[in-house]
Amino acid sequence: MGMLEIKTERTTNKKNQPDVDKLGFGQFFTDHMFIMDYTEDKGWKDPRIIPYQPLSLDPAAKVFHYGQTVFEGLKAYFNVDKRVQLFRPDSNFKRLNASNERLCIPAIDEELALEALKKLIRVDCDWVPAAPGTSLYIRPFIIATDPCLGVAPSKNYQFIMIMSPVGSYYKEGMKPIKILVEQNYVRAVAGGTGAAKTGGNYAASLKGQEIASKDGYSQTLWLDGKEKRFVEEVGSMNVFFKINGTVVTPELNGSILPGITRDSIIQLLKSKNIPIEERRISIDEVVEAFHNGTLEEAFGTGTAAVISPIGELNWLGEKVILNNGEIGETAQMLYNHLTGIQNGSLEDPFNWTVTL
Ligand SMILES: *Cc1c(COP(=O)(O)O)cnc(C)c1O
Repeated sequence: MGMLEIKTERTTNKKNQPDVDKLGFGQFFTDHMFIMDYTEDKGWKDPRIIPYQPLSLDPAAKVFHYGQTVFEGLKAYFNVDKRVQLFRPDSNFKRLNASNERLCIPAIDEELALEALKKLIRVDCDWVPAAPGTSLYIRPFIIATDPCLGVAPSKNYQFIMIMSPVGSYYKEGMKPIKILVEQNYVRAVAGGTGAAKTGGNYAASLKGQEIASKDGYSQTLWLDGKEKRFVEEVGSMNVFFKINGTVVTPELNGSILPGITRDSIIQLLKSKNIPIEERRISIDEVVEAFHNGTLEEAFGTGTAAVISPIGELNWLGEKVILNNGEIGETAQMLYNHLTGIQNGSLEDPFNWTVTL
């Protein structure tokens, strides 16, 4: 089967672009968006690029009531050769389909999605910011649009991609974050939707975020939903610890989101012959390693920040201080290497980047 044709309707009313130092995260959107529809009889159809605009949806649309929706997050970078490049976009569309499967949403054509994204970026290429650390954040998402309150998978969907120029995550340089380990609430359970990128997981995590920020902590460290013993994720990032020279990250157990940054970090560590283990790790093991002096570093990984060093973990009131609250050398080295590949200043032996 040939690929569907992607039509383009250009805006006649281009927006003024914000100052690069006012970008922040996800506040401004480019001139165009991608959209395609799904109906039960025709499948995914009418892929098109149109001027950025509000959606018109029936108030009974299933997404509003039952959260049948999935999303992705990836970035395009203006590289050192003044070209635009994407980082592992195929992995994002593959993961979108894995999330679709869990949420009973029909699979998209991953190849078509990547073609559409490239085309959208070309149409809005003047929106890719060039300042160091900045990028174009891309948000693909799918919503269930059936105007019917019956609880059942929708028969109609929309697949949309919007794009937002984002500022440097670390304007004042990389800074370790303080994390509160959550003892009551959980974000996901085995068998639930934790491994899918779906809005409901985020709605469930807001309470932890609120509790953490009340005490001056910036994010939550989530423990497993069953025993509240094993480390899962930090905020909306995967988490790594360095204990006695070995890097440890929780294994993918069904309730942890399989991060693309997580996978890239694991591959980078392996290529550098730094010991890396994917296994269960309890909060007790982390605290014990702190007490016996073998807890060297901890950091979160995700597309938004790439690497977020952790300076403090608070567990039941005890402050576990990592590397004197300073950036660890492994975190810094991984950050430099991965961002170097992403902005084209370092070689990419993994073939992760896609240049437009
Ligand atoms: C998206 C996400 C991550 C990070 O995934 P990346 O592909 O590295 O951006 C981690 N945890 C959660 C819960 C997420 O939603």
